[in-house]
Amino acid sequence: MEGNVKTIGLIAGMSWESSELYYRAINEGIRDKLGGLHSAQIVMVSLDFDPIEKLQAQGNWQEAGALLVSAAKKLERAGADAFMICTNTMHKVAAQVERAVSIPLLHIADETGAALQHNGFSCVALLGTAFTMEEDFYKARLIDKFGLQVIVPDSASRDIVHNVIYHELCLGKVNPASKAEYLKIVEGLSERGAEAVILGCTEIGLLIQQDDTDVLLLDTTRLHAQAAAEFLVS
Ligand code: GLU
Repeated sequence: MEGNVKTIGLIAGMSWESSELYYRAINEGIRDKLGGLHSAQIVMVSLDFDPIEKLQAQGNWQEAGALLVSAAKKLERAGADAFMICTNTMHKVAAQVERAVSIPLLHIADETGAALQHNGFSCVALLGTAFTMEEDFYKARLIDKFGLQVIVPDSASRDIVHNVIYHELCLGKVNPASKAEYLKIVEGLSERGAEAVILGCTEIGLLIQQDDTDVLLLDTTRLHAQAAAEFLVS
């Protein structure tokens, strides 16, 4: 069997709890596609999340973006054929990073939007950090490029979703009470008409999984990793 010759570059560490999931899921994708002892050719630059989270909180996206630009350049020099930003939130600076290198970005919202469109969904809900749920860099892409209607939880629920991400999931803490709150929020979104709920933060899959609910969940970490595996064998 022919091997996969392409290399994918990962900008990781945001948080490392989810980067670990990416590494596994991309390799599982290659195993499923190519079999045998095949595994993915990956180069990874894993950043320190603490200064990035501080820059996010200060609204200093330019400087946070510069850290990702430097990572993307390293990936390019290391021979990556394409790269991924392994977090939904940091796609806020995707354009800045894309401009700085000549290799393509596999954009997480595009992979998610394509999967939703492929499955014929029209109204979906989005869970993620406050940046992802409230700003346009992610939502508008799903709406404009994929014709989706995107709803988000109410303000109190958005606070819960956001705080659990930064104070628990990015620290590797999986709290049963938070899980129950998330599932209640998912139910509420379904009652408001969402045909599926996007887990639009790469750590949410650590907390809730499809087996926990009848509402269809779309995990962006898995979709993004799948896209990487497809790119590698294309
Ligand atoms: N990994 C998360 C996401 O997918 C949040 C951490 C971050 O702010 O990058 O949005």
